[in-house]
Amino acid sequence: MSKSLDTFLEKNLNELKEQGLYNEIDPVEGPNGPIIKIGGKDLINLSSNNYLGLATNDELKRIAKEATDKYGVGAGAVRTINGTLDLHVKLEEKLAEFKGTEAAISYQSGFNCNMAAISGVMDKNDAILSDQLNHASIIDGCRLSRAKIIAYKHNDMDDLRAKAKEAKESGLYNKIMVITDGVFSMDGDLAKLPEIVEIAREFDLITYVDDAHGSGVMGKGKGTVKHFGLEKEIDFQIGTLSKAIGVVGGYVAGSKQLIDWLKVRSRPFLFSTALPPGDVAAITAAIQMLIDSTELHDKLWDNGNYFKAGLEKLGFDIGHSETPITPTIIGDEKLTQQFSKRLAEEGVYAKSIVFPTVPKGTGRVRNMPTAAHTKEMLDDALAIYEKVGKELGVIN
Ligand code: PMP
Repeated sequence: MSKSLDTFLEKNLNELKEQGLYNEIDPVEGPNGPIIKIGGKDLINLSSNNYLGLATNDELKRIAKEATDKYGVGAGAVRTINGTLDLHVKLEEKLAEFKGTEAAISYQSGFNCNMAAISGVMDKNDAILSDQLNHASIIDGCRLSRAKIIAYKHNDMDDLRAKAKEAKESGLYNKIMVITDGVFSMDGDLAKLPEIVEIAREFDLITYVDDAHGSGVMGKGKGTVKHFGLEKEIDFQIGTLSKAIGVVGGYVAGSKQLIDWLKVRSRPFLFSTALPPGDVAAITAAIQMLIDSTELHDKLWDNGNYFKAGLEKLGFDIGHSETPITPTIIGDEKLTQQFSKRLAEEGVYAKSIVFPTVPKGTGRVRNMPTAAHTKEMLDDALAIYEKVGKELGVIN
C-alpha cells in the first residue's frame, strides 16, 4: 500500500473511533423482517426501511423466482443496448399509474436515480435551491450537475422565497430548480409542498421531490405528493423501490417529454446494467398490491402511532415526526451509541444515528415500526426501552 494512503487511513480511522463516530456494521443472518438474527441472537428489528414487510413477502418471493426461471438472474446489458426487457416496460407503466403521471423511468438504486435525474437536466448555467437537510444522494446529484447550489434553511419557506427571488432577479441562470425530500428520514417530518409549489409558480422553478420515505407511507400509500394532491404540479416525482416497496431501485415519474429526455441523457440509464428480472417482476407486483389495497399502509400507521404513544408515555423525546419514523433523541454521540448497544444486548435492534448523518449533539436512536410487527413485539421493545432508558438516565 502507498505510504501516504496508509497514513491517511490510519489517522482518520483512529480519529473517528476516538470520537465515537465509527459505524460498526453487524451482518444480518437471515431475512430482514420484524425479528432479525445478528450474532446468532434474535432481536426485535426497529431499523429497517422495509416499512410494509414486502421485502420478505411470500407472494413476491414466488414472483421473483418465476421471473428468474424465465429470464435468468441478470438483465445482461444496459437499458439502451438490449437490457430493456418487457418486464422493465411493464414496471415503468405501473410506476406512472401509481404516481399519476404520463410516464416513468427506473434506475438501479434510489441513490443513482438522484445522480441521474438531477445531472440529466441541470447544468453549469442553472441554479438549484436545495433544502439544507436533503439526502446525501440529492447533494451528490446537485454537485455532479455543476449547477450553482443554493441551500435554504430546513423547511423555511421565507428563506426559500427570498433565495428564489434573488436567484430569479439576478438573471444569471437559465433554469432554477427547487429540490426537497418528501419525508425527511432522520426526523420523520414532511416537506411543505403546497408552499413550495406556490413559490415555484411565482418564480418559474422546476419542482423536484424525492419521496423515498413517503411512497407506501403517505397519501394512502401513493406518496407525499398525492397526500397534498399535487401530482399535476411536481415536475419530478422521485422514489426508491428499496424501502416500502421492499426490493431495490429508484425511479422518476413525470411528463412523457421529461422521461424521453432522461432515456437519452441520464448516464446510469445509458452506462449501467439494468435491474435484474426477478427484482423487476417483484417490484411491479408490489406496486400493484399498493394500488389495490391500503391494508399494509393502515397497519403501518397503526403500529407507528402505537409505538410513538408508548415511547412518549415513558418520557422519551421523540421529536416532531409526522410519519411512523420515530426518533428517540438522546443528544450526546457516545451516550446515543451506548444506548443503542444496550438495547441490542437486551433484544432490540435500533441503530444509533449520529453526526455526520445528523447535526452534532442531536444523536438519536431511530425506530422504524413496520406493518409486519405485532403489538406483542412492540410491547416487548417498549419494556426494553424503559429498562435501558432508566439505567442510562435518559428517562426518570
Ligand atoms: N433518497 C432518500 C431521501 C433516501 O433516504 C435514500 C435512502 N437512504 C435514497 C434516496 C437512496 O435510495 P436507495 O437506498 O434506493 O439507493
